[in-house]
Amino acid sequence: MALRNVVTEGDEVLRKHCREVAEVTDRIRMTMEDMLETMRAHSGVGIAAPQVGVLRRMFVAEPEPGRVYYMINPVILEQSGSQLDDEGCLSVPGFVGTVERPDHIKIEALDLEGKKQTYEFYDFDARVMCHEYDHLDGILYIDKATDIRDASELAEEEEEE
Ligand SMILES: [Zn+2]
Repeated sequence: MALRNVVTEGDEVLRKHCREVAEVTDRIRMTMEDMLETMRAHSGVGIAAPQVGVLRRMFVAEPEPGRVYYMINPVILEQSGSQLDDEGCLSVPGFVGTVERPDHIKIEALDLEGKKQTYEFYDFDARVMCHEYDHLDGILYIDKATDIRDASELAEEEEEE
């Protein structure tokens, strides 16, 4: 595995519509493993292919340590409810913002073996999946956030409390 550079906001790669993965090859698997390593190196809970400059419909998510999901050609089949919470993004370092997301989703995707899997996610897991899914269509959380603010100011506020 190898670390990849994370593309940051302002780079138009993040605004492109990603193409489907035609076949789950060793190269795709290797890219996904690199994405996982890169995500962990930045203490992230999710990373999408365009964030490492690969314009393919795939992302990796680890909403809780050790619980890793590899999503290739994901499709959100159902979504319901709504939740409001803060999120950040490895491509927008140093900031957080409040984003409304569904609190339940049903999603299908190919796994690393190229097999179609269906998952249901709630709460934080659903938030992570929706955030990563948006990246595949060139959408960043800052497009939807109501109050983007400096993450270090937030940390200071919490220390003062
Ligand atoms: Zn992101």
